Amino acid sequence: MSAYSKLFKPKISKEFFRKNLNPFFNEINKSLTDYLFPPVCLSCMTSLEIPNTICPNCWQNINFLTQPLCEINGTPFPFDIEPGTISAAALKNPPSYDKARGVAAYDRTMKELIHKLKYNDRHELLNLFTNWMKFSGKELIKQSDIILPIPLYKTRLWQRRFNQSALLAKRLSEITSLPYECTILRRQKKTRSQVGLTSKERYQNLKNAFVIEQNEKEKLENKTVLLIDDVITTGATINSAALSLKNSGAKTVYILSLAIVTNSSNQFI
Ligand SMILES: [Zn+2]
Repeated sequence: MSAYSKLFKPKISKEFFRKNLNPFFNEINKSLTDYLFPPVCLSCMTSLEIPNTICPNCWQNINFLTQPLCEINGTPFPFDIEPGTISAAALKNPPSYDKARGVAAYDRTMKELIHKLKYNDRHELLNLFTNWMKFSGKELIKQSDIILPIPLYKTRLWQRRFNQSALLAKRLSEITSLPYECTILRRQKKTRSQVGLTSKERYQNLKNAFVIEQNEKEKLENKTVLLIDDVITTGATINSAALSLKNSGAKTVYILSLAIVTNSSNQFI
């Protein structure tokens, strides 16, 4: 030990600091942060007691998706029906995935919150979103082996700078302990928005959109995959991705999203 470090060797041990002084400084740090950045609602910015959440008013403006839901698509039924019922849309066009679930309908406050994450870089929303997803997707999470995001095409990733589905999947992996795999599924084709396209056009648009390299296929062998998307609109994207995953060895594909478009004019319902 040099003369300098001997001279300035702290009289308080690290252990003493950790046990006795750390909580004290943490409290000061918390108060200072609250003073400089008072907690506000992540949606409407009104003052709140607790940080990183939304106010009761905004909470009421979110249509959380609760039972009765279509057993396959996770879309709500407008009337009471037996659990396990499958919607007419899922019966007419059985999807490649096994089940899809979403936190809320893609409207009002939920739509604004997702836009804040996607276009305004409001990454402080991730904790709230992933806690909601963990709750809404608990049955799917319990049965899954790996978690992976719907990928963006490279030029879109470059424009946006981040893939919101990958951020959600990574955070969900941290709070559920499901292994996060971001290299298995790749997007090899730039696709148009699916909204307004006929089912034939949607098929053409997404044909071969996703690719899985040969050396990644063993990671899927006989696995139950939890695929994360931010918003399910027509269901065509998740369907195409699920088909690629199943063709490459996945046993079961579950989809978990933040929101589902449940507009009655949409063909997904
Ligand atoms: Zn609010």
